[in-house]
Amino acid sequence: MMKATVDPSIADFIQSLPKTETHLHIEGAVPWELLQETFPGEFESIPEAWAPDFQYKSFTQFEDEVLSYAYRYYTSPERYHESAKRVFQSHLDQNVRYVETSFHLGILERIGGAGPDIVDAIKSAVPEGLEVRLFMGMLRNHYQGDLIPLMDEIHTWEGLDGIDMHGHETIPWAAWAGDLWQRVREAGKFTKSHAGEFEGAKDVNTALDLLGTRRIQHGLGAAYDKATFQRLLDEEIALDMCPVSNVKLRSVENVKKHPIREFFDAGVTVTVSTDDPTVFGNDLVHEYDLLMSHLNFTKKEVIQVARNGFQVALVEDSTRHAWLSELDQIELTL
Ligand SMILES: [Zn+2]
Repeated sequence: MMKATVDPSIADFIQSLPKTETHLHIEGAVPWELLQETFPGEFESIPEAWAPDFQYKSFTQFEDEVLSYAYRYYTSPERYHESAKRVFQSHLDQNVRYVETSFHLGILERIGGAGPDIVDAIKSAVPEGLEVRLFMGMLRNHYQGDLIPLMDEIHTWEGLDGIDMHGHETIPWAAWAGDLWQRVREAGKFTKSHAGEFEGAKDVNTALDLLGTRRIQHGLGAAYDKATFQRLLDEEIALDMCPVSNVKLRSVENVKKHPIREFFDAGVTVTVSTDDPTVFGNDLVHEYDLLMSHLNFTKKEVIQVARNGFQVALVEDSTRHAWLSELDQIELTL
């Protein structure tokens, strides 16, 4: 079993680009070596899912796998800190300058303790040279029982930059989410939402209408409905896409049918990220290589995808322009 290999000249080019990662679950990113160190004698062989042609049978099978790492490893703020340190170092190693990552409310619910401690644990792991924005992710049915008082306070958590609605898309949307998303925005934080990974255009429209967010994680479903596709353009909605994840989870029939090509050609702001790299065995080189090797993206077009990541980044314009001008310089050498 091996991770996908990438043509060295393509890999070098992708490596040379300043990049972003704006769709990353910290629980799905716990480094494999860290699992091996933490649980000696376990996690000895790398997951079957790292094989380039592997596809999950169902979302549930994927969820079980990610939770089997996440529940085992993430039991304290200290564990989040240790993992985040290594994840962020791997970003620097990949020439990534800006990251948006989320931690999952379901883990906090399981381990107990205070959410702000996890926020501090992750934020204090950010190295020099990397900008990180941290989100708390939750499910469409999380607002109940003991979680309600906690969720009603999220907007006051210092250091938390925003919230994200995670999959599972078969759970019905509920009105509470609209109120929470608005409250969080009014507190000066940023909001986004997973939608349209499996459930089509209607799911994307509901996320936009109910939550009022301008950033959709995945959003593939919008490609299959003309009006929704146009809506992305009219309302300048950006999609943080994860093509390797979409292929391995069968959100698309095959890699050639991934709609990122159509979105990009029409002028939708699309970015690429790894989603859950411990589960899929991918990194950003794999994501960009997929665009180049299977969807005919040119070097120039790949630079534009990298540029999109900096366009959506939650930073001062002066920082953004410095990153963008690095990409401009690279483009001039093509
Ligand atoms: Zn995701």
